[in-house]
Amino acid sequence: MDQYKWHELTVGCVIEEVGNAMEYKTGDWRSSKPVWNWEKCTKCGLCWLFCPDASIRQRDDGFYEADLDYCKGCGICAKECKPVAITMVEEER
Ligand code: SF4
Ligand code: SF4
Repeated sequence: MDQYKWHELTVGCVIEEVGNAMEYKTGDWRSSKPVWNWEKCTKCGLCWLFCPDASIRQRDDGFYEADLDYCKGCGICAKECKPVAITMVEEER
């Protein structure tokens, strides 16, 4: 990713390029990550719905999983999962 110099910034730091969030792998600074137990998952989709980073994807088999490039480890998916199919575990780097 290119670094901007101060004189290259737009007025008001307005972001003019669409879709640039894809460039930022926000999962870099995660301290914990969600781990799925698909035996408990009912494929309800609540984790997908509540993830504030839209980092959960539905797989072809209907189950859900996080894209760890973008998951920030907030734990909201685990909190909202009624069957407790998601556990937050400490990130290992
Ligand atoms: S909220 Fe829980 S049960 Fe529902 S799809 Fe996500 S992991 Fe599965
Ligand atoms: S921990 Fe937070 S950011 Fe990561 S998948 Fe769950 S809801 Fe999304």
